[in-house]
Amino acid sequence: MIYAPNHIKKYVKQIQGENRFFNDGIYDEFTFAYEIICSCGCKEFVVYKNSEPKVIASCTSCGTQITLYDLIEYPCATTVRNPEEQLVKVINKSNDKFNAAIIIQYSDEFAFDDEEFDENGICWCQIFLYDIAHLQSIMIVDDETA
Ligand SMILES: [Zn+2]
Repeated sequence: MIYAPNHIKKYVKQIQGENRFFNDGIYDEFTFAYEIICSCGCKEFVVYKNSEPKVIASCTSCGTQITLYDLIEYPCATTVRNPEEQLVKVINKSNDKFNAAIIIQYSDEFAFDDEEFDENGICWCQIFLYDIAHLQSIMIVDDETA
């Protein structure tokens, strides 16, 4: 089963075991790790971020823009956006093309089959980018939503 906020759900593939993004294993039943894959099959993105933080990934193959993180999407989050801060391209040592992974955590308040469980109700998020030029992973978001 895949649990993820609506804005990324159709772009995620579950990460299991060793991977190039992060070292720590995911042992918590309310925590999920996913790699982002565009609907065209491409895994390479140019990524934009601001300090809210809001994060958008743009597919290098077809140009589709995927929202990776946006507090406005999560019912438990409060965000003041007045006006929205400009997004800035993420660059690591002059490289701007990345593979992207996201770790999301839900609160343990509701079971997944509880009717009050909300897939958009994430409580914590980390985003990792894998720099395909330097073979290096960087974490760009580590945020508690509520
Ligand atoms: Zn694409």
